[in-house]
Amino acid sequence: MKNVKIKIAMFAVSISIFNACAQNSSSPNKTEKQNNMNNEKYEVNKTEEEWRKQLTPEQYDVLREKGTERPYTGKYYLNKEKGVYKCAACGNELFTSDMKFESHCGWPSFDKEIAGGKIKTVTDTSHGMVRTEIMCARCGSHLGHIFDDGPTETGMRYCVNSVSLSFEGDTIKVVKPKQE
Ligand SMILES: [Zn+2]
Repeated sequence: MKNVKIKIAMFAVSISIFNACAQNSSSPNKTEKQNNMNNEKYEVNKTEEEWRKQLTPEQYDVLREKGTERPYTGKYYLNKEKGVYKCAACGNELFTSDMKFESHCGWPSFDKEIAGGKIKTVTDTSHGMVRTEIMCARCGSHLGHIFDDGPTETGMRYCVNSVSLSFEGDTIKVVKPKQE
């Protein structure tokens, strides 16, 4: 009886190994996955052609194709002005300057977001890593990633591409984060 059990267990293991290999060899390519994702309905819903017209090639690469700007090169990395950071694609207000901290990681970093479900998270398994991607909840554009190793009391680090953001200085408008 014991032998039978062991045999069954071994059979199950070999099946799962086979499945794992099969999945690897037949994983859908990146473009296919992205197109599926872009078909999701957002409040701001444009075709890739429309986005391409509206955005600069650099913005398109990061926001729509999930690219990453080179570290230490983004225009907001060292920005210390008071104001609001918005999604560069649709203008959704995402962060205030009070939420920004110096992270030394090469990208603008924030310890929280403006309340109201403005940012959507998805698991990103690209580049052999498991990370949490952050996207604008209004238009589905890629912003960066979120990590739980932040140095402030929230413990969070929103690592965002400057290219994904547009900044509006305080002289025009102040948006205070809502207290939860
Ligand atoms: Zn957006």
